[in-house]
Amino acid sequence: MDKYNNNPIPSDGLPITVTDGKFNIPDNPIIPFIEGDGTGRDIWRAARMVFDAAVARAYGDRRRVVWYEVFAGEKAYNLFGEWLPTDTLEAIRRFHIAIKGPLTTPVGGGIRSLNVALRQLLTLYVCMRPVRYYPGVPSPMKHPEKLDVIIFRENTEDVYAGIEWKQGSPEARKVIDFLNSQMGTKIREDSGIGVKPISVTGSKRLIRRAIRYALENNRRNVTLVHKGNIMKFTEGAFRDWGYELVKEEFADRCVAEAEAAGADGRLIVKDRIADSMFQQVLLRPDEYDVIATPNLNGDYLSDACAAQVGGLGMAPGGNIGDEHGVFEATHGTAPKYADQDVVNPSSVILSGSMMFEFMGWKEVSRLIEQGITETIRQKRVTYDLHRLMEGAVKLKTSEFAAAIVENMHAAVAA
Ligand code: NAP
Repeated sequence: MDKYNNNPIPSDGLPITVTDGKFNIPDNPIIPFIEGDGTGRDIWRAARMVFDAAVARAYGDRRRVVWYEVFAGEKAYNLFGEWLPTDTLEAIRRFHIAIKGPLTTPVGGGIRSLNVALRQLLTLYVCMRPVRYYPGVPSPMKHPEKLDVIIFRENTEDVYAGIEWKQGSPEARKVIDFLNSQMGTKIREDSGIGVKPISVTGSKRLIRRAIRYALENNRRNVTLVHKGNIMKFTEGAFRDWGYELVKEEFADRCVAEAEAAGADGRLIVKDRIADSMFQQVLLRPDEYDVIATPNLNGDYLSDACAAQVGGLGMAPGGNIGDEHGVFEATHGTAPKYADQDVVNPSSVILSGSMMFEFMGWKEVSRLIEQGITETIRQKRVTYDLHRLMEGAVKLKTSEFAAAIVENMHAAVAA
């Protein structure tokens, strides 16, 4: 295969490969990108400029990303009559790491959400959401800087598995009949039904990734967030399997909070009930580092934490599996601002920073973080932050990206 979606594969790059779970990154990796719909176009242009400048700054001529456009969303629909062409999936499958802007969700189409489809088809079982404060961003908290967490949200199971039946449908009736007649339940006949599967496999592979991340990045603790006091065999089991994993695979480097006899250098694994966790991140944010949690809790908690640091519109995300990683903006396409060069590109830029860290190009990631931190500290921001910050200078999307690059260079020079 030398092209996907009729777009020839660039000849000046090499594919990333994966052997025994290890990603091998050449110096000129081909990385597929999905530009995104609506404001995705403005954001991607700005983000790519920052990425290329950071790689050049970090490695000179030695390394370079060879970007390769693949298509999804409205752009794919207009070009090929499909929202998510098979070629796009195949290209991401082959090149292993990709980045995407926001996509329009088709209304009334066969695909419920393109993002959910991508996650399920490529088995991207971790949704990773780092949440930290960038000084100067308006936040509702007195000390937003105290929250610095990485959330590992399970991405394939739970009530998001899409197993549900509409109230009144023959399927819902059949399930209700079965449960009431065979399993001793008393479900109302006029109920809709949803199923919440949580497996040993899904839970352990997620928690394993969270623990490994914490160990590799010298974090102090991993918290399993669950609602096991009520849902014992799904959420409660998630917690139990987490502690089981600690004993089976990490006994020399991790210890459960209840068994820790004081600081002995091992990573602490603890658990919190979900409702209490929402209080904990508000009241004692600095006691939490890495969080591992089933899908629904993770969805709520990621946005709540992002709001706490004022960064809901800037939050980055990565969807990761054993052989693939797709990094993405967490906001939507904001279509009313499309092609006006005004929106904040930080979400995709920070997702790119996560991508480079995942690739082991940590110098690039550090430069991007420095550039964004300094630009916001200087109060040179896009309209969304400008309207909330006193004395700020309003920049266009492209000007904001240029300021990030300028500050990256200044940081290195200093
Ligand atoms: P949205 O695109 O996130 O926009 C909602 C509001 O958030 C915007 O009007 C704007 O607020 C603010 N906003 C979003 N992105 C911004 C940015 N980069 N910079 C500054 N402000 C930003 O949500 P939506 O209008 O509900 O959804 C639009 C489309 O996106 C839908 O088709 C939806 O399905 C899709 N979507 C895609 C993804 C994804 O691909 N990951 C995620 C969510 C939604 P103000 O108007 O106050 O300035």
